[in-house]
Amino acid sequence: MKDCILNYTLEELKNEVKPSFRAKQIYNWVYVKQVDTFDQMKNLPKDLKESLNERFSLNPLKIANKELSSDGTIKYLFELEDGKTVETVWLLMKKEEKDLEGNITKEAKYTVCVSTQVGCKVGCSFCLTAKGGFTRDLSAGEIVAQILSVKKDNNHPFNRALNIVYMGMGEPLDNLDNLTQAIKVFKEDDGLSIGGKRQTVSTSGLSSKIDKLGELDLGVHIAISLHAVDDELRNELIPMNKAFNIQSIIDAVKRYPIDTRKRVMFEYLVIKGKNDDIASAKKLVKLLHGIKAKVNLIYFNPYPGTPYDRPSKRSMLEFQEYLVKHGLLCTIRDSKGIDISAACGQLKEKELEKELEKA
Ligand code: SAH
Ligand code: SF4
Repeated sequence: MKDCILNYTLEELKNEVKPSFRAKQIYNWVYVKQVDTFDQMKNLPKDLKESLNERFSLNPLKIANKELSSDGTIKYLFELEDGKTVETVWLLMKKEEKDLEGNITKEAKYTVCVSTQVGCKVGCSFCLTAKGGFTRDLSAGEIVAQILSVKKDNNHPFNRALNIVYMGMGEPLDNLDNLTQAIKVFKEDDGLSIGGKRQTVSTSGLSSKIDKLGELDLGVHIAISLHAVDDELRNELIPMNKAFNIQSIIDAVKRYPIDTRKRVMFEYLVIKGKNDDIASAKKLVKLLHGIKAKVNLIYFNPYPGTPYDRPSKRSMLEFQEYLVKHGLLCTIRDSKGIDISAACGQLKEKELEKELEKA
């Protein structure tokens, strides 16, 4: 398999192609003009185009499936060069605004949820991705290609801002080297120029890697998938908690370099009868004391065969009310794309079902 050009920061590409000013031109073709082949890079000499063709691939992804939701969410299933598949979700966060004459006064806002691995090693008991086990890490280029592909597919101009959340399939901190490389490529001024502040890494809580990410000082936000307030339940939901318990995560968050105006997001997946009681809310308030935190409550999204249930709206609202009363910022994640199956791993699952039907 050829090396993907999307793996390279501009500085690294300068070491690969000579003379080095060509690297900037290539970057422009790839990220600004977003061409599909090296042959389209008109200002490059023929022999350079030939050697690029021999050495590199340009886009390692093919759209294998695409589902549109009525709320503007688009869920992509991408096929990688080895035939494996991952999901990427294009989320419309805010619709565009127009004046009376129909001129756009405010651009629409988008967030893209990207995958970092095929499958996942963490094995959370509530997660569909975990059911398929772990296959492999994505390369930096495969992570970058997800953003490039969805931008292209939605005619989203190269220089228009969007937010990235590493919340698709996989545990981003379990693929730290490729994740940080992708973050750097996204940040390139001559490329997509998506700053650290626009990138959020969601983790199930590998405390030691939270520290490493912090040391790299890339300016990215972190979101912690906490889901439980005592280690007993968290061990059941996220087996890795036995190695990195709740306190170790809280300590790592306190060490993480955070923009003082920002808050650390704690995601709390609410499961009926497991963690939706007020006693848990009370413990959560205590646990997050002293951290500039924001809690995002997530409805558990059931799928066939799961032992867990979706909580009632009432218990969600009561949980939220308790947190807010006690000084925590708390939102409830609206289930974007619910009509096309919301939680990660579910589009892929549908494809599998279809394949099984065909067989
Ligand atoms: N591995 C990382 C990021 C990917 S998981 C992490 O765990 O944070 C992305 C999100 O999907 C997590 O917040 C997880 O809690 C959520 N999720 C997984 N299964 C879900 C389900 N069945 N219903 C609702 N959310 C789910
Ligand atoms: Fe992996 Fe996140 Fe799913 Fe847990 S919730 S199995 S860490 S993808």
